[in-house]
Amino acid sequence: MSTQTMQNSSESIMHLAETVGAHNYHPLPVVISKAEGVWVWDPEGRKYMDFLSAYSAVNQGHRHPKIIQALKDQADRVTLTSRAFHNDRMGDFLKKLSDYTGFDMVLPMNTGAEAVETAIKMARMWGSKVKGVPNGKQEIITVAENFHGRTTTIISFSTDPEAKDHYGPYTPGFVTIPYDDPAALEAAINENTVAFLFEPIQGEAGVYVPSEGYLKKTYDICKKHNVLYIADEVQTGFCRTGKKFAVDHEGIRPDAMCLGKALGGGVFPVSAVVANHDVLGVFTPGTHGSTFGGNPLGAAVALAALEVLEDENLAERSHELGEYLRGELRKIQQPKIKQVRGKGLLNAVVFEDDFQAWDVCVALKEKGLLAKQTHGNIIRFAPPLVISKDEVDHALAVIKSVFEAIA
Ligand SMILES: *Cc1c(COP(=O)(O)O)cnc(C)c1O
Repeated sequence: MSTQTMQNSSESIMHLAETVGAHNYHPLPVVISKAEGVWVWDPEGRKYMDFLSAYSAVNQGHRHPKIIQALKDQADRVTLTSRAFHNDRMGDFLKKLSDYTGFDMVLPMNTGAEAVETAIKMARMWGSKVKGVPNGKQEIITVAENFHGRTTTIISFSTDPEAKDHYGPYTPGFVTIPYDDPAALEAAINENTVAFLFEPIQGEAGVYVPSEGYLKKTYDICKKHNVLYIADEVQTGFCRTGKKFAVDHEGIRPDAMCLGKALGGGVFPVSAVVANHDVLGVFTPGTHGSTFGGNPLGAAVALAALEVLEDENLAERSHELGEYLRGELRKIQQPKIKQVRGKGLLNAVVFEDDFQAWDVCVALKEKGLLAKQTHGNIIRFAPPLVISKDEVDHALAVIKSVFEAIA
């Protein structure tokens, strides 16, 4: 084999990454070198359907033309100013996000973890300045099996040993209760509680959908005790679950939402916290910030990403195709499957507890469909929301043939 071919082959690319890169991931053995819509290609020209969507960051599909055009146009004008100066794109973006979410204030950041960190600081500041909790005593209630990102403070309230172990000392001020248990929330609240931080559907935990009424009940408890109700919609937001936001399934208006992933249209990291003035207004100049937050390139991209969600009715599409996909997945004959669950196009197939789904994901890949297991026995199926019915049928045929072949 010539050196040239060697260097560009999937194998050599993976070898290089594994040799020089830190081993904090264990990716499927596939290299993606090109992408469009729901499809991706490897350097050898093999074509795959993306059924993970970068953990729901690619809801609008890979390289959506409108979003790429916005990126290119903005790259030709100005890309970064820092918040020391105003830029002429941030305002339009924040207004669009405010209109889209119905909250009157937005604080832009870059990654999901930063949005969550911002929400934590906002809640603590609100607790101290507005609720009257002595500074240093603020408590935030979180739930078991949560995933909110990877910073040292956020993993301090993770219940996943892989994410948490060996990273102490941990940030105090967090209380953990079981998920889907409103009574546990009420019992955990005391005079120092400033916020309840939760995912309306737990994504990384394996697409855990709470019982009907959970959002409403926990919301009412928070209101009763003057506790901020903060929904982390980084993964569930932007039409993924068949509504604009997962809290919309119960008609809930949180005090704040953490947003990220698809806000950047799969193109650029853009995140934000949205809330109303009475809460997000606690920040004053100098109390929080980010060099890249609100940058004009990200703002232009995010504005286009939001327009695509609306122009292409992606909430409706996600709802309809999600119902269809789950219905068809439930028809597959495979005794090792315990449950098919999800909302919209955020779905999971749950196998028996001791089942290792890695080999199944490799087999799916061999047949041209990319998905990744979580917690060993759960496979998430979350294609870009621009997927067509025909493409869902194609994926179902692949999944059926692989699942039915499991011994
Ligand atoms: C992915 C995710 C995050 C973290 O986002 P990053 O951009 O990876 O920092 C936070 N919360 C939830 C619910 C997520 O799924």
